[in-house]
Amino acid sequence: MPTATARKPTNSRTATKSRKPQAAIRNPKSRKHVYFFGNGKADGNRHMKDLLGGKGSGLAEMTNAGLPVPPGFTISTEVCNIYYEQKGKIPAAIDREIAEHVKKLEKAAAATLGSTDNPLLVSVRSGAKFSMPGMMDTILNLGLNDDAVEGLKRRTRNGRLAFDSYRRFIQMFGNVVLEVPKEAFEHELDAVKKARGAKLDTNLDEQALRDVVARYKKVVKTKAGREFPQNPREQLTMARDAVFRSWMNPRAQEYRRIYDIPDHIGTAVNVQMMVFGNTGDRSATGVGFTRNPATGKKEFYGEFLINAQGEDVVAGIRTPQPIHELEQVMPKAYKQLREITTRLERHYKDVQDFEFTIQDERLFMLQTRSGKRTGYAAVVIATDFVAEKLVTPRDAVLLVDPESLNQLLAPGFDQDEWKKIPTATRGLPASPGAASGQVVFTADHAVEWTRQGKQVILVRRETVPDDIHGMFVAQGILTATGGMTSHAAVVGRQMGKPSVVGAGALEINEAVRQFRVGGKTVKEGDFLSFDGLTGEVKIARVASKPSEILQVVNGTLARDKSDIYRRFETILTWSDKFRRLGIRANADLPDQAELAYAFGARGIGLCRTEHMFFGEGRIPIVQRMILADNEKDRRKALEELLPLQRDDFYGVFKGMHGCPVTIRTIDPPLHEFLPKREDLMIDVARLEATGHAGKELEEKRRLLARVEQLHEFNPMLGHRGVRLGITYPEITEMQTRAIIEAACRLNKEGLKVVPEIMIPLVGHVKELRDQKTIVDRVAGEVMKEQGTKITYLVGTMIEVPRGAMTADQIAAEAEFFSFGTNDLTQLTYGFSRDDVGKFLRIYQDKKILEKDPFASIDVEGVGKIVRSGVELGRQTRPDLKLGICGEHGGDPASIHFFEQVGLDYVSASPYRVPVARLAAAQAALAVKVGD
Ligand code: ADP
Ligand code: MG
Ligand code: MG
Repeated sequence: MPTATARKPTNSRTATKSRKPQAAIRNPKSRKHVYFFGNGKADGNRHMKDLLGGKGSGLAEMTNAGLPVPPGFTISTEVCNIYYEQKGKIPAAIDREIAEHVKKLEKAAAATLGSTDNPLLVSVRSGAKFSMPGMMDTILNLGLNDDAVEGLKRRTRNGRLAFDSYRRFIQMFGNVVLEVPKEAFEHELDAVKKARGAKLDTNLDEQALRDVVARYKKVVKTKAGREFPQNPREQLTMARDAVFRSWMNPRAQEYRRIYDIPDHIGTAVNVQMMVFGNTGDRSATGVGFTRNPATGKKEFYGEFLINAQGEDVVAGIRTPQPIHELEQVMPKAYKQLREITTRLERHYKDVQDFEFTIQDERLFMLQTRSGKRTGYAAVVIATDFVAEKLVTPRDAVLLVDPESLNQLLAPGFDQDEWKKIPTATRGLPASPGAASGQVVFTADHAVEWTRQGKQVILVRRETVPDDIHGMFVAQGILTATGGMTSHAAVVGRQMGKPSVVGAGALEINEAVRQFRVGGKTVKEGDFLSFDGLTGEVKIARVASKPSEILQVVNGTLARDKSDIYRRFETILTWSDKFRRLGIRANADLPDQAELAYAFGARGIGLCRTEHMFFGEGRIPIVQRMILADNEKDRRKALEELLPLQRDDFYGVFKGMHGCPVTIRTIDPPLHEFLPKREDLMIDVARLEATGHAGKELEEKRRLLARVEQLHEFNPMLGHRGVRLGITYPEITEMQTRAIIEAACRLNKEGLKVVPEIMIPLVGHVKELRDQKTIVDRVAGEVMKEQGTKITYLVGTMIEVPRGAMTADQIAAEAEFFSFGTNDLTQLTYGFSRDDVGKFLRIYQDKKILEKDPFASIDVEGVGKIVRSGVELGRQTRPDLKLGICGEHGGDPASIHFFEQVGLDYVSASPYRVPVARLAAAQAALAVKVGD
């Protein structure tokens, strides 16, 4: 059986083609490349994310709103594209524009770059349209040199601050721009700390920090082979270019691949006046969310560190304090922060994720953006927002990423079993969900072991952006350091991956691949489980249990007992109001039909009859049918199958409560129902060798002979689909009879059903005509026998390119089309669905393909064929019913395309029905996914 290609849980975005960075989005008339913000006015605003990136547009918007934002300017994403286009050079005109903006910034900041008595210090920050946490680089305190540092000391009368800032600058610049490994600097810092008996960075005084600076400069000299650059303008140019380069670093590329972010959009560079959270105990830096991003609960949420700068909070160097404690330490700044962030949430009508710094009790906002959240939180927040009258249901529907609904269906632990196992330790509950698997310590091992079919938990001291590939495949992520906003936490939530962070009791020894906790040693390969909602970690393998939503759907939990179910249902009910596309499910068996119906599918778009042939005790009958070398024997076997199929159809119709059901006649090549040729050969050889003549040997030989006869070099292009029905019309007869008899029976019982009989793999209208004649004849006979009349439709799957190209002819016979986009993709590209895995990854690495065309429809190629099939079909038959039943029916980006093409419905696998309902609503509201 051709297997569906595994899909990755992505944030699907609009299908954008893979392109190298280029200036495709550049408007030749716009000569402006640099945008200022400061003194209550900005050149940009929130609608300019394409040009200014998320960070730049947020800084502009906050400035315009009169919030306390340090002044600065944004170099647009177009410049990034120019940088790549011109092979790393920036045109002189843009350099001049930047220089003018530096002057403007010096004026606004009342300080001068490189000045020895009042130096301007800036941060140089990356920022693309879509936030990519930690993937690119940022440099703080730029503008310092051996003279300016003394100037800073004079101005602030704080030598510790000056040298703390300088050593940070050398480290960041050295690492990001001059590519000196971080460890080389950390090694020196540790040495100074040790020599002075200092536990924390904050224990180092000015003198000690002067020592650190001297050592850092030596590190640069030996590792980078040059002096640390002293000219601030040179520093700025080098930093800007390094940020542009970081756009194409491997981890950023990997991140974009996972999240379907195109390469060509580029990053902006923000140059902003520094404010200092490291002046002493009256200063701090922090990050936060306006609501809890893991649970969605309405609570002010975040962390801060006193006397710290920039990344300290997320880097896990010191353990940050929860944000509510700020109220005691700096009540005024706290109150202002709450007011500002509440205002921002109302302004943007979305949860905000913000960064701030307090310099001598004065608050500065450094960033605001939509907060990444779990699927669970997204549903809670969207429904709360409507209850709070902050947004309408229409906006609420746009606040939830369809793909993230899958997280709500993910399993949890069986609580009875979970409680029996002792808790080994507890960490911070960063991303909910139950994770169980074998321990690995590196991202590479996670990938390797997963390939071998194992389920793994990635255990790290802390994750770094380079771990992204391992985090993607792991069942869960567990770290020893880091807070709720650390890398592991942020990325875990975004991926919907269970994560527990900051489990400080873990003593991890990555070198020998083991950790110790509570006197126990856990080695690589040992089983471990944790609960991302409570933070509990246990050394055991624990079975998981269906999510609350599934429990309600299965009827094992009352709807009223589940708050999240009711919210989930609410979002989907709203979605139903806004969508135009009908939602059906691909379901072969009655229980699947029931599940799909419970998830809101109103019809079956694809019921594969052959799946019924694999039912218990049926294979021998099916084999007899196939082995028959004459029509009489074949009919005898088919007669045995008839009542079984009839009952199946009866069950599926019933499971769909009278909604339309499309049943496809048999599709796969017959040899799939027979034993493997090689196995039979071995059996025959064995029986011959052991002298077992007689009935068994004879049977096996006969079977082998028939298998040889049916053997095909290329079964996907062989004797299958409509070709089977044409060569063995009695199969189509039996299947039609089973369908119509089941429908008649339900009709008599009072449930009206309209079966849609679908003939697969049609490329020529005469193929369909041949089969339709049979269907109509048998249907007529059955209805006469039964003394009832029912309505049924006959249609076809459009999955062979010729079928799509001659859709006008085919529509003369077909009452409906269902686009079989799996086969259509296979036949259009000539990629075998079952073998594409061997080279797809390389295609993606080489940027030949950005997405797997079997997971998300290739709009330009396969999509064009679908579009033409739709147009031709409707020319002949304006009321032609049009649907899609490939894997793409559950993919949000593809659903956007199907909405545009004007299909009547999409059909997805039962578990993806909620995703499809929401995506269809968003598509109808014509909002680009991911914007
Ligand atoms: P990222 O995109 O990885 O969050 P940012 O550009 O936001 O990187 O910067 C990293 C850190 O540096 C943040 O914590 C931010 O608050 C801090 N930072 C950036 N610019 C300034 C500035 N002008 N003054 C003080 N801190 C800053
Ligand atoms: Mg930031
Ligand atoms: Mg097919």
